[in-house]
Amino acid sequence: MANKSMSPFMTAEQAREAGFEFTDPEPKHCEYCGEPMEPLCIEGREGHLLWISCVPCTCDGARQAEELARKEQEERAARELEQAYARSGIKKRFLGAEVERPQLARYLNSFNDEPSVGLYITGPSRAGKSHSASALAKAFVASGYRTVLTTSIAMLDDVKASFDGDAKAGAARFSSCDVLIIDDLGKENANSWVMTTLFQIINDRYEAMKPTIITSQYTPDELCRRMSRAGERESAVAITERLKETCRLVTLPRRKSVYLVEAGLSET
Ligand SMILES: [Zn+2]
Repeated sequence: MANKSMSPFMTAEQAREAGFEFTDPEPKHCEYCGEPMEPLCIEGREGHLLWISCVPCTCDGARQAEELARKEQEERAARELEQAYARSGIKKRFLGAEVERPQLARYLNSFNDEPSVGLYITGPSRAGKSHSASALAKAFVASGYRTVLTTSIAMLDDVKASFDGDAKAGAARFSSCDVLIIDDLGKENANSWVMTTLFQIINDRYEAMKPTIITSQYTPDELCRRMSRAGERESAVAITERLKETCRLVTLPRRKSVYLVEAGLSET
């Protein structure tokens, strides 16, 4: 076909050059300036031409309308993304979180090559662990991964709440999502049910080679001791061994207090 561009649309002149025979289409006029517009066709069945569009008018009115439509489309996409963030568990106060730390950026950049590797982010309170967890969750959601961000306590509450129904189904949301981010691991109880449930979720993901991202104020060894405090040492060891095997360790330094000054808080 003589059409130089890859577009399937042809002007009447191009269609004639390409050897089509047709009667000229109904004239169309710009709804903003009233000027005639150049009709565009595509080839339909059996060589019939379908006049379905026009070369866009370049008048101010038409341009403004196009700009408005583009803006509305962008706003709709931004709204949908914000809803997806909320569904994944990202809290409103962390919606602005961005990946700033080089270790986290490197992790995201290498994720396609090592999609089963997680992160174990540790550091003192106020080091920005929840901020980091939210920033990572946003990056995964925006890339289309089914992502769940939760605290360990909220996750266990969710599983427990599903006991009236199907406990396995309650844990499935956490076991089967593409990326699970557990914020503040180590704050939960250490009883037998908690340790068994945590192990079940972390082990299911380990077996399925799905990445799990952890934040904790405890290092993996400290976490293991803490999880053993009610006598569930076997589960505690199993959980932390899985995490050590699959997660890259990131240690965050304490955040400077300028952050607190900005937020209008004072360190007590
Ligand atoms: Zn116009």
